Amino acid sequence: MKPFSWSCPYCNQATTITEVNFGSDKYEFDLGNKDGILALTTTVVACPNPGCREYQMRAKLFKTERTPSAGGSYYNKPITAIGEWTLRPKSGARPFPAYIPKPILDDYNEACLIVNDSPKASATLSRRCLQGMIRNFWGISKARLIDEIAELKDKIDPTTWDAIDAVRSIGNIGAHMEKDINLIVDVDPEEARQLIGLIEFLLKDWYVGRYEREEHKKRVIALAAAKSAVKKAPPP
Ligand SMILES: [Zn+2]
Repeated sequence: MKPFSWSCPYCNQATTITEVNFGSDKYEFDLGNKDGILALTTTVVACPNPGCREYQMRAKLFKTERTPSAGGSYYNKPITAIGEWTLRPKSGARPFPAYIPKPILDDYNEACLIVNDSPKASATLSRRCLQGMIRNFWGISKARLIDEIAELKDKIDPTTWDAIDAVRSIGNIGAHMEKDINLIVDVDPEEARQLIGLIEFLLKDWYVGRYEREEHKKRVIALAAAKSAVKKAPPP
């Protein structure tokens, strides 16, 4: 296997995964089932962070095709994926700090949990989560999410605005934001995932960013106070 970049769904640490922390296996079956010989592949990635060591497990089911290999023999090459599951952790939700308001994190976590099985319910939770963030963080409150977003434009930096605008311009998501909060609009899993991606970006940009700026400011002030105390100290 080639080393690849990975970020741990448990501790959020970004790292490079090599053979030491990676395992995979393949199980082929032809049990009178439809679609011929199927291959189920499983992969496990273990987090190298000594403080974490959690592991992520995935399974993927493929249709196969009889393919010639070296030496005149054949093997069953996985060609089309017909199912994909993350077995562990149950949800693709990223861990976020507890200083973010709980109702916002609850909506985010639940939106992640159901994104594959019920994308439109997931998108509805994401929309509520987004609205909760705009109201809580920016103190903007209007009848429709789309109007709250419009109000944001002059308050946030252009990069963040571009991220919001990119997701807003996706057909059904855009329509979704214009509707009443309780109306469920059809979206596919990919669209629902884009909305989750935007929420993750904003949680980091707004809440985590503000917290880190505050912490940095505190350190700078404490350092300045310590230096000034040294200066003021009377000579021995
Ligand atoms: Zn980890």
